Amino acid sequence: MNRVLIVCAAAILSLGAQTRRQVSLVVIGGTVITENTTHRILTPGAVAIDGADIVDVDPPAAIAAKYQAAETIDARAQIVLPGLVNTHTHAPMVMYRGLADDLALRDWLEKYIFPAEAKTVSPELVRTGTRLAALEMIESGTTTFVDMYYFEEEIAKAVIEAGLRGVLGQTIIQFPVADARTPADALARAERFIKEFKDNGLVVPAVAPHALYTNDRTTLVASAELGRNYGVPVIIHFSETEDEIKLARDQYRMTPAAYLESIGFWGPNTLAAHGVWVTDDDIAILKRYAVGVAHNPESNMKLASGAAPVTKYLSAGVPVGLGTDGAASNNDLDMFEAMRQASFLAKLSTRDPAAVSAQTALDMATIGGARALHMDRLIGSLEAGKRADLITVSMSATRQTPLYDAVSHLVYTTRGDDVRTTIVNGKVLMKDRRVRTLDRPTVIAAANALATKVRAAVSR
Ligand SMILES: [Zn+2]
Repeated sequence: MNRVLIVCAAAILSLGAQTRRQVSLVVIGGTVITENTTHRILTPGAVAIDGADIVDVDPPAAIAAKYQAAETIDARAQIVLPGLVNTHTHAPMVMYRGLADDLALRDWLEKYIFPAEAKTVSPELVRTGTRLAALEMIESGTTTFVDMYYFEEEIAKAVIEAGLRGVLGQTIIQFPVADARTPADALARAERFIKEFKDNGLVVPAVAPHALYTNDRTTLVASAELGRNYGVPVIIHFSETEDEIKLARDQYRMTPAAYLESIGFWGPNTLAAHGVWVTDDDIAILKRYAVGVAHNPESNMKLASGAAPVTKYLSAGVPVGLGTDGAASNNDLDMFEAMRQASFLAKLSTRDPAAVSAQTALDMATIGGARALHMDRLIGSLEAGKRADLITVSMSATRQTPLYDAVSHLVYTTRGDDVRTTIVNGKVLMKDRRVRTLDRPTVIAAANALATKVRAAVSR
């Protein structure tokens, strides 16, 4: 009798296993915040992943019944959410972290950063810095980042090695820099870069004219055309400070937004970083051309640039993502801090405690950032058919106790260090805080060794 029962049970189990779909990875047991259009939250939930894609999001029992996973990640007592999207940074600038603080943008750039870069930017610095930045991003839950820097091909290689997703913009700037003597050189370099990486699964190549005040009209127009010709993003620093507004008024008798419109710069592939000093008409221009905005609250506060009118952008329907900006003006790449500061800065600057709620901040760091990049069909939420870019976050810290509201905790008490797992394109880059794709001691030792050279170069 017993033997018959055992045989029957085994037959049922094996039948169940046969009908279950084989998938590569299941993340199971945590509170799953999907960031889909209905803001669905599963308590608890599970995410089934096959290859690079999410195939299902459902309660744990349903996922266990439908799928057989090669690898399972237990996310109990954690929150599972879409990987964070950092819409504006300069990854290798982690090498200038803490080199010059407490300055306004113009002094900071012209007296410290541009001279330091002139002496030290090299393929080696870019490679070493990007590895350090990638390590920090993986450790703090960023899965996609937008970059603009020099030797962008070195950044692309380091990003692919680390397994992150990157929208990587080759910088175009009017004066001679380490990787280009003229804007024409920089444009040619950008075109080569686009051709080399345009079919890569992780890298989206882009063109990054630095700003209106560092490029002339011809260069700005050529940059926009290059982006249009290849259908790739065009990234620019935009209306960051009052100085920039004054310059545009003096030189063109227009706001930066109106001037860039007048030369045919804007298009649906443009991403405008900062957008602090804008009029209602400027916001209407950005909306008309479907421009995305990268809001960088920490950098804007540290350089005393101002407070971007985030609530106005959002109510006008302009997609807004969050960015850390480079680590030299922040001074880290922690997107949890960016969420918190975005919320606090909006409340303070509008004197409205309801401005940029926890939910709005989380939206900007995930699906909003994806929309600003026009990548929301691929990333930004946990839904079947999207790329499997997700993180799990511990909720066990003293400062996270007790837990009433997961979204509140993510924005108001969580830090990058609370991230336990980082998955990009279905690949586990970090599990239980151990990064798999980069060797942490090697990356940190290389950065420290290079910092000695940077210190020596800037003190000369
Ligand atoms: Zn920037």
